Amino acid sequence: MNDDTLHPETLAIRSGIHRTPFNEHGDAMYLTSSFVFDTAAQAAARFSGAEPGMIYARFTNPGVSAFEERLAALEGAERCVAFASGMAAILATVMGLMKAGEHIVASRSIFGSTVQLFNNIIGKFGIETTFVSPTDPEEWRNAVRPNTRLFFVESPSNPLTEVSDIAALAAIAREAGALLAVDNCFCTPILQKPLALGADIIIHSATKYIDGQGRVLGGAVLGSQALMEGVYTFLRTAGPTLSAFNAWVLFKGMETLELRMRQHSANALALATWLEAQPQVARVLYPGLPSHPQHALAMRQQTTGGGIVAFELRGGKEAAWRLIDATQIMSITANLGDVKTTITHPASTTHSRMTPEQRAAAGISDGLIRIAVGLEHVDDLKRDLLRGM
Ligand SMILES: *Cc1c(COP(=O)(O)O)cnc(C)c1O
Repeated sequence: MNDDTLHPETLAIRSGIHRTPFNEHGDAMYLTSSFVFDTAAQAAARFSGAEPGMIYARFTNPGVSAFEERLAALEGAERCVAFASGMAAILATVMGLMKAGEHIVASRSIFGSTVQLFNNIIGKFGIETTFVSPTDPEEWRNAVRPNTRLFFVESPSNPLTEVSDIAALAAIAREAGALLAVDNCFCTPILQKPLALGADIIIHSATKYIDGQGRVLGGAVLGSQALMEGVYTFLRTAGPTLSAFNAWVLFKGMETLELRMRQHSANALALATWLEAQPQVARVLYPGLPSHPQHALAMRQQTTGGGIVAFELRGGKEAAWRLIDATQIMSITANLGDVKTTITHPASTTHSRMTPEQRAAAGISDGLIRIAVGLEHVDDLKRDLLRGM
């Protein structure tokens, strides 16, 4: 059932299914750390790679393979390698495809832990990162060095929803002999297909929309067979493996991905449009709004604006905290991608490690609020915000 002429709704429900001899209708889960062989010769053939098949759950597991197959079908990728978390997927991309002395060019507006990983962990092993503007491809071109191996971008960005031109960055990367990796966590393959736009690698934190209900951690890297071989070798040797249970949850989560992303986007657009009309709101950042600085690009590159909305209150931090504390429905947490709406104050949480000057330069003001719009009724969400506005 991995026919690529099928629609995403169908692939999300039907791809990756391999039945056991019981011919079950539900999806089986395999809680086993290793696999047995019929004969010593078969064991040898599995270990040499002459015969495909399962060996040990650090390498792979039928449920993990099913998850990988389904996500690969949705992204239009030759191969997917699953990981225990999104951060493990990013680490594996660098460890599997780069070596000491090489160089990364990354967007300045990427997930905080990714910045820490590049600067403080990978940096210790002789791989340097230059951070550039997410919205100015010329900065990427100017940052290229002879040893640049990887471009890394996230679009739309968190929390300001800046949209990067993936096709333009792919062209610059190709010229530079570098690979372009896109963290596609905010869009999922339902809204954006980075490989079709020219990217080489897609990274997911499956913890977010792919699970969709805030239950488990997971991650994935996708791309060509040749590139994924390096990523898989790191996984199999170092062991940041996705558990069988988490793979099963994520596999089931994907069944409703298209439906959820459509409704997250519809709710977010309705809420963003309403916020723009509120006198207490100085500006709203949502790629689906015509007022967004990269609206035209976003609508070319994505099918909808997605589920994340940021807005700035005129009253600064005091007004932002008052609004957050007055909510009764929204969850005060930095997580996103859940059916439950979450609300957060980036300046004092996810971006609090930056100095006030760095935050000002990045456009993260004290009045900024980020909402990851869930699937509650949008009128109830508006009423919840009005309590503190
Ligand atoms: C959450 C997140 C990550 C990290 O994923 P984990 O599953 O928490 O390790 C990476 N990138 C983006 C954009 C994220 O939102």
